[in-house]
Amino acid sequence: MTHHPQIYEGKAKILYVTDDPDVLLAYFKDDATAFNAQKRGTIVGKGEINCQIAAHLFRAIEAQGIATHYIDCPAVNEMRVKSVQIIPIEVVVRNIAAGSLCQQTGITLGTILPRPLVEFFYKNDSLGDPLLTRDRLLLMELATSAQLDILHAKAIQVNYILQNFFKLCGITLVDFKIEFGVDKQQQILLADEISPDSCRLWLTGEPDPNLRVLDKDRFRRDLGNIEDAYQQVLTRVLGVRE
Ligand code: UDP
Repeated sequence: MTHHPQIYEGKAKILYVTDDPDVLLAYFKDDATAFNAQKRGTIVGKGEINCQIAAHLFRAIEAQGIATHYIDCPAVNEMRVKSVQIIPIEVVVRNIAAGSLCQQTGITLGTILPRPLVEFFYKNDSLGDPLLTRDRLLLMELATSAQLDILHAKAIQVNYILQNFFKLCGITLVDFKIEFGVDKQQQILLADEISPDSCRLWLTGEPDPNLRVLDKDRFRRDLGNIEDAYQQVLTRVLGVRE
């Protein structure tokens, strides 16, 4: 199809303007990157799979009263979204210890956390997306104190919704990253995407630490069968009746 002008190309998506100034079109690419784009590759069919997973999850979240930027999908790898100004904070929620939490604290991989942990990272590739404290966020004026409280509360709510949703799929939600944007009415909307690129998802009940991985860790750690894992997440997500 012919597209309108491109306004942004990220690592996994391209954003195009549309005839409506309040609406953007997100095209989901098959490109995969990890470790701050030092590792690059292609996951065949990822664009389509992630677009469909994200659409389904946004609808489930919206149905629980959390506003998102999602509108609809005009094609399998294209999503129409409300235009927002992205807040440059990566909000990470963790239920089980993995990744940078284990590396930075020494907590053992797989430890079930007593309560969900919410962390704010600065979305800045040249600085390597550093973990920030609340005081640093305020110092940097990345958000107001009231906005940080809203982001924290929304992150906890999204975690609750996603945890329950994935439980119905036989998938354990280990952790995930979300981003928020501000629309022209100054409303905070859940934005970007939620997919196996941005979540750690483990097949529930699978004890093998490699076989259980259904997310981008298969790419990061060269575990193979990436396409199968992403497709399995989509199939399981589509199997949930709302
Ligand atoms: N994550 C992401 N984008 C990033 C960094 C992290 O989507 O730029 C996701 C990651 O897939 C995981 C969660 O956020 O589900 C927590 O990631 P972590 O801080 O453990 O970082 P990692 O060690 O994976 O880089």
